Amino acid sequence: MNPDEPSADIVRAGLTFSWRYSHGLGALAPFFAALTQGRALATQCPSCRTTWFPPRMTCPDHGPLAQWRELAGVGTVMTVTRTTLSLPLTGRGAAAVMALIAMDGASNLVVGRIAGAMDAEPGARVRLAVDAGATVHPIQSMVFEIVGGR
Ligand SMILES: [Zn+2]
Repeated sequence: MNPDEPSADIVRAGLTFSWRYSHGLGALAPFFAALTQGRALATQCPSCRTTWFPPRMTCPDHGPLAQWRELAGVGTVMTVTRTTLSLPLTGRGAAAVMALIAMDGASNLVVGRIAGAMDAEPGARVRLAVDAGATVHPIQSMVFEIVGGR
């Protein structure tokens, strides 16, 4: 072996890392808990009644919020993007439709995955559901299904 030319064996080292991390969900914990049950928990400003899903903890006009409000869990697709995605740390990846969704009763839009409908289009009605696949964070359980026949 020539000491000036490293062999392939010493150019790369195989390393395996493993760690366990407890991620605090903070003030949004009720939102995440509801997602794992297929429920849409929003926040609402007690002054101007603006409602956010996903929730915000502060109204830009009136300060901190304290009111949780459950929505019906249905909404309308506003835009779609067909892509391939992987859910971090789950080993799951597949073609998917990502959508901006206007939930009934919410003032903002939510980004969500649409399950089992690669042909989903703007205007479609969707319902919040629970992704039954492997997840490592409660936000990954949020998925939407097309409502009704197509
Ligand atoms: Zn407000």
